[in-house]
Amino acid sequence: MRPDNRQFDTDAIRRDYPVEQVVAGYGIALHQRGTALVGLCPFHDDREHPNLHVYPAKASWYCYACADQPDGWKTGGDVIRFVQLIERVDFLEACRRLVGRPAAPPRPSSHPAEVRARRQWDRLSIDEQDLLNRVAAHYHQQLDGCVQALAYVRSRGIPDRLIADQQLGYADGRSLRAAFREPADIDHLVDLGLLNRQDPEHPDCFTELFRHRVLVPELRGGNCIWLIGRTLVPDRDDLKYLALSGERPILGLERASGHAEVLMCEGVFDYLTALAWEFPAFSTCGTYLPCDRLGFLARASAVFAVFDPDAAGRLASGRFAALLGQRLRQVALPPRCDLNDLGTRTGGREQFLELLASAHNGSQEVNQCA
Ligand SMILES: [Zn+2]
Repeated sequence: MRPDNRQFDTDAIRRDYPVEQVVAGYGIALHQRGTALVGLCPFHDDREHPNLHVYPAKASWYCYACADQPDGWKTGGDVIRFVQLIERVDFLEACRRLVGRPAAPPRPSSHPAEVRARRQWDRLSIDEQDLLNRVAAHYHQQLDGCVQALAYVRSRGIPDRLIADQQLGYADGRSLRAAFREPADIDHLVDLGLLNRQDPEHPDCFTELFRHRVLVPELRGGNCIWLIGRTLVPDRDDLKYLALSGERPILGLERASGHAEVLMCEGVFDYLTALAWEFPAFSTCGTYLPCDRLGFLARASAVFAVFDPDAAGRLASGRFAALLGQRLRQVALPPRCDLNDLGTRTGGREQFLELLASAHNGSQEVNQCA
């Protein structure tokens, strides 16, 4: 409902219609000068020296030349005042004209944590991609050199050939900083969130995001575009899984795209088990995946949901059934057993093939990819 004349929320108008965008919307080109944006003032004959100063931080504007005119009333104000003057309307009409136009999108924050949270990992610059590839290679080498981490991965039934194929890694929490000495590399590592500066007073002290974690990279065309890590030393304050922040890519997109039959796994290690058994598979890295990320399954006639046999898993299966319709087949795992657990059991693979066949209604053989 449109507010009546006396009910304009002027604070909201000033917030939702940034003065610099409204001014620019009248065709006035603005250029940064210090904290101000300057342009030609539309209220006096301003041809040579731009006199209109717009201050985004203060949501205001000011013309230094108009202020010198005998009728210096057109000197400045807020966004509403600007619209009043340029459209020659009163205050209420200016408000009405502002709220009648589409609100500007909120100004994106430039705080590093928020920039990271907006990152899309399938859009990296060539320098960032090159660096992430080197980081993944470094972590992969670390896994090879850490007996405890390697034993953990093998104990979860992951064969050495898959460790190599998928470039699984390990972060010891110390060596990343030592391996990357170039200042430009350090800056990128901080930007990407792999290293965090602990203390502004000690700019060369870093903590490593993935310390003491086994790492699973998402590979696209052989490039590592993202990493998720499973902690090796669980403690109460630590998350079991931690990923690079930003929009999560589909883990295993290339493994699953284009196949007629695909396994949709809940956990990262479930996904690795599926790969070890040479199924086309991907992981939702949890039970949530927004519907606008599912297009890559368009060529699949059957998507086998291999979720944990618990309430969250059942709920997720139901949600994906609504999104994927006839394509979705639910695989009923044994009680208290996820796919990775099954993978570590003797005869687990054969048992899984049977479960898969029942999910398929016994109508067809389930094809494994070569
Ligand atoms: Zn002026």
